Amino acid sequence: MIRTSLPVKKALKPRRCRSCGNSFQPISSMSKACSVNCALDLVRQANARKEAKAKREERVATRVAKEKVKTRGTHLKELQAAFNAWIRCRDAGLPCISCGRPASWQGQWDAGHYRSVGSSPASRFDPANAHKQCLPCNRHLSGDLVRYRVNLVKKIGLAEVERLEGPHLPLKLTLPEILEMKAFYRAEVRRMKKEAA
Ligand SMILES: [Zn+2]
Ligand SMILES: [Zn+2]
Repeated sequence: MIRTSLPVKKALKPRRCRSCGNSFQPISSMSKACSVNCALDLVRQANARKEAKAKREERVATRVAKEKVKTRGTHLKELQAAFNAWIRCRDAGLPCISCGRPASWQGQWDAGHYRSVGSSPASRFDPANAHKQCLPCNRHLSGDLVRYRVNLVKKIGLAEVERLEGPHLPLKLTLPEILEMKAFYRAEVRRMKKEAA
């Protein structure tokens, strides 16, 4: 059978311009914009999105690369900082463990270790061994350990203090354990600060 007429192209329904939102008559099924200006605008928008995405990806890659070159020592230091921040949050409402300076004091607060990291490395992340302390006590009076002990016995009991003063097995943390603890304390600090706000 011979076709006598060309297939009639169905007129496309009007649609909304993706740029300005106006209704327009598309010239093809691919048309997205009502005008050249709107089409260019769409291209610019797509480029901006692509650039933002590339920047985001670059930031993530930089962060990952920085994490990769960190040594165990760096992670341990960061864990100590996270743990100390957690101690300060935990004791936010309490006075200095040594001199009793009230929590309302506006100076610098530290997390002071009863057994120093040097004298008992195994106790460096023991929550019983670290308490909020004012900077003058921690750094100028070497922790003011005599008064620290008096108040520590009141706070955690003599048995716990004697446990801290006793011998300790060496603390051997694997890198995954260090990372896990760091993430835990950081998350806890975020949660506590949010709750306090
Ligand atoms: Zn338009
Ligand atoms: Zn103090």
